[in-house]
Amino acid sequence: MKILVLNAGSSSQKSCLYEIADDGLPNQSPLPLWEAKVDWTHHSGFAEIEVQTAKGETLQTEISADRAAAIAHVLDTLWSGSTQVITQPSEIDVVGHRVVHGGQEYQQSVLIDKPVKEAIARLISLAPAHNPANLEGIEAIEKTLGNRIPQVAVFDTAFHAQIPAAAATYPIPYKWFEQGIRRYGFHGISHQYCAGRAAHVLGRDLKDLRLITCHLGNGCSLAAIRDGHSIDTTMGFTPLEGLMMGTRSGSVDPGILIHLMRQEGYTVDQMDQMLNKESGLKGVSGISADMRQIDQAIAQGNTRAQLAFDIYVHRLRSSIGAMLASLGGLDALIFTAGVGENSAAIRAAACEGFTFLGLNIDAEKNTHSPVDQDIATVDSAVRVLVIHTEEDWAIAQQCWQLLKGA
Ligand code: ADP
Repeated sequence: MKILVLNAGSSSQKSCLYEIADDGLPNQSPLPLWEAKVDWTHHSGFAEIEVQTAKGETLQTEISADRAAAIAHVLDTLWSGSTQVITQPSEIDVVGHRVVHGGQEYQQSVLIDKPVKEAIARLISLAPAHNPANLEGIEAIEKTLGNRIPQVAVFDTAFHAQIPAAAATYPIPYKWFEQGIRRYGFHGISHQYCAGRAAHVLGRDLKDLRLITCHLGNGCSLAAIRDGHSIDTTMGFTPLEGLMMGTRSGSVDPGILIHLMRQEGYTVDQMDQMLNKESGLKGVSGISADMRQIDQAIAQGNTRAQLAFDIYVHRLRSSIGAMLASLGGLDALIFTAGVGENSAAIRAAACEGFTFLGLNIDAEKNTHSPVDQDIATVDSAVRVLVIHTEEDWAIAQQCWQLLKGA
C-alpha cells in the first residue's frame, strides 16, 4: 500500500510517501520512498521546496506559490523528473492528513467526506493558524489527484478526547463550557506514537503501563497515559497552555492579561503576539527560542539565558508532578521531540526532581544521543526513555489500519 502523508504547519508543509507491504505494519518506521518540505518563512510569497528520495535523489527550488500551487508542484515530483518514485498518481492508495483540531466530534481518525471537511472548517475558530492549512491540503489533493483516492484525517486532539471531565473542564462559568471552551490538548499523534513505541522498547503491554510523555519541541506538552489512553495533558483549549515553550509563555496568571489590557491598552492581537511569539525561552532570554543557543549563552555566562533554562526546568518538573498525581504512580517517563530527544541537560535536570521516587538515569547513557532507548539505571524504580517521535509514520499507520479495517 502506498500512503502519502501531508503534515501542514501554519507556514510550512511536510509530505512523504511510504510503501507498506500488505502483510502487516512493520514495528519500526520504514524510510519513506520520497519526502518533501515546503517553507514559506524565509521569503515572503515564495515557497522554498526541498525534495529527497530514499535512493538519494534531491531537488531544491523556490517558486512563487500559495499552498495549493506548492502542493501541486511538489506532487508532480512524485511521478516526474529526477525524484520520480511512481509512474502515475493512481498508484497512491490513500492520503493521510495531520489535522490539528477535531473538536469533540472526532475522537479517532476518519475517512474524509463532505461532513468531515465542513467540521474542519467549522473548527477554524478554535485553530485559526492550522485548520485552514489542513483544509487547503485536502482540497489541493482533490484537485490534483481527484476524488477517487481516499483521504484520512488524523487529529492531533483525538488522543486526548477521553480525558475525564474534572481534568477537561475549566473552573469558569459553565455556559462557556457549553460553548466548547474546555481542554482539548494537542500533540496527540506524537504522545500516542511515543507511548506505543515505549511499550514496544520495554517489551510490555501498553495497557499495563502508567506513562508520562514529554513532547518538548518548539511547542511543548505533557500527557499522562494510563491503559493506552491520555487521562491528562498540559495544553488546553489552545496550544498556549502549560509548559514554557520556545516562544510561547505556557500558563500564566490570567490576571496579567487583564492588567495589561486595562492599564496599558494592549489589544487582542498584541496580546496574541506577545504570548505566542515573544515569550517563552525567547522572551525571557532575549536571545533565542532555540535551546541550543540558550545553552551556548549559558556557557558564556549569560544570566538571562540561565534564568530561561531554570524556569523551563522548574515548570517541566511541576507539570510532571501534576501528571504523576493524575496517574497515581509511574512506570516510565518518556522524552521526545527536538529538546526532549537532544538535550541531555534538560532530561537530567527534569529527572533530578524525581530521585525521591527512586527514579534514576544512567548519566553515560543520557549523554550518548540515545534513540528509542531506556536511559534509566538498572535499579531505577521508574524507566526513563528517549523516543524519536515519528508523527508522519503514525499518520501512515492510522491510514493503513483504517483502510485494512474497512
Ligand atoms: P517542532 O515542535 O517545530 O516540530 P522540533 O521538535 O524539531 O520542533 O524541536 C525544535 C527545537 O528542538 C529547536 O528549536 C531546539 O530548541 C531544539 N533542539 C534541536 N536540537 C537540539 C539540541 N541538539 N540540543 C538542544 N535542543 C535542541
